Amino acid sequence: MTRKKAVKAHSPLRVLALGAHPDDVELCCAGTLARCIERGDQVTIAFACKGDTASMDLPGEKIARIRSREARNSARLLGAELIEMGLLDYHVDVNLETKKLFTDVIRQAAPDVIVTHFHTEYGSDHNNTFILVRDAALAATVGNFRASRPAVSRSPMIYMWEPLGGLGFQPEIYVDITNTFATKARMLNCHRSQREWFRRKGGVDFLKYIEVAARFRGYQAGVTLAEGFIALKNWANIGTGQVLP
Ligand SMILES: [Zn+2]
Repeated sequence: MTRKKAVKAHSPLRVLALGAHPDDVELCCAGTLARCIERGDQVTIAFACKGDTASMDLPGEKIARIRSREARNSARLLGAELIEMGLLDYHVDVNLETKKLFTDVIRQAAPDVIVTHFHTEYGSDHNNTFILVRDAALAATVGNFRASRPAVSRSPMIYMWEPLGGLGFQPEIYVDITNTFATKARMLNCHRSQREWFRRKGGVDFLKYIEVAARFRGYQAGVTLAEGFIALKNWANIGTGQVLP
């Protein structure tokens, strides 16, 4: 049996934040990513879908172009690399093609740590992104799994972020984002098209939502503002040590 290299806590790290849609990372873990950048980590943001359905007024191609620009602005603001994976919304199915796509993203980013969706979020794009990340994290290290890029040796640790509304999610790890919340808000504010979408679709101002969520988790952790995570307890993905800031 070949033994994979387990991740050990060290810094700087390579961090990959992979969400289904262009603003998921900002909503759920951008304060933590800003802490990673502060300590010198290399951060890559990736998103699976173009976000082409998230408009009541614009055709898919047009809103997808707007959202690509918004995501690039946000990643630039953080100082992160950005990978746009190019699937259409509602097209994150678990099949060989998407397994290869996710494997190539992980091989490209070569992360020590991946942060991604919780396994029981709303919507198949989110849930299947989790499944594909989990599968691809292993496949990325397996040379005989053929995709476009060669295998990497790192087997990343995987952390799941809090889904919108926090339903059914009790964090095990809290990251103090008191000093990086402003960066998270500025990044999310790059996604202006979605602020309007959230207001009209759900009656929610997402900038207010992230503050309420961060204050609640901060209150639990004894700090002003926090983001919460759960480690995926899989063989060789659990790693050792505490790697989030
Ligand atoms: Zn999403």
